[in-house]
Amino acid sequence: MERLQKVLAHAGVASRRKCEELILQGKVEVNDQVVTTLGVKVDPDVDVIKVNGRPIRKEQKVYIVLHKPKGVITSVKDPKGRRVVTDYLKGIKERVYPVGRLDYDTEGLLLLTNDGEFANLLMHPSHHVPRTYHAYVKGVPHGDVLDKLREGIMLEDGITMPAEVEYYDVEPDGSSSIISITIYEGRNRQVRRMFEKVGYPVYRLKRIQFGTLFLHGLPRGKYRLLSAQEVKELR
Ligand code: URA
Repeated sequence: MERLQKVLAHAGVASRRKCEELILQGKVEVNDQVVTTLGVKVDPDVDVIKVNGRPIRKEQKVYIVLHKPKGVITSVKDPKGRRVVTDYLKGIKERVYPVGRLDYDTEGLLLLTNDGEFANLLMHPSHHVPRTYHAYVKGVPHGDVLDKLREGIMLEDGITMPAEVEYYDVEPDGSSSIISITIYEGRNRQVRRMFEKVGYPVYRLKRIQFGTLFLHGLPRGKYRLLSAQEVKELR
């Protein structure tokens, strides 16, 4: 349930302030009842909302892929006023939410949408969406270490599912390396915890793939809308 003025604003009727005025002026009806107070909550999928006797447009479903920079919170609001991912979505008036989350210090591909059903489907544990990360570590982990990561690591919340793990890049002097890891679950700080457990803490983490989507070509801090075909392929 959401506040009526918010639903009106998201449907593109007018600004939230103007929508409040429309309500107070008695121009808004919910299920054929005129509403003139501001506290009313509605379900935009169920309630029939009219302004000046005309039904409002349903909010369009949007699907967005953002190249999240590090130092940004995967949230739509932060009580402490820190930067959040939706600060990067200038020009998007629909109210979108992140599908899963990336840590404050993790950068890379983040999907956002206002399609709750789609988000729940992708996030359901049975769905096993592949998520590929580049994990930057000091030194070069031995092949046995990569095998352990592949087979499963015992964390406080249980053993991790089989993962795909490869060297992506290795400094010739052996000082650092980038490991590509694909996991099929989305536990909190999972990649960082897996690497910590094998003695190679991650100092930089970047998600380069989520399901059928790739980060490639999208500059840091920028977003793009997905095509209908891309949305279909993600399901
Ligand atoms: N694993 C992590 O450790 N952090 C992320 O942000 C995503 C996956």
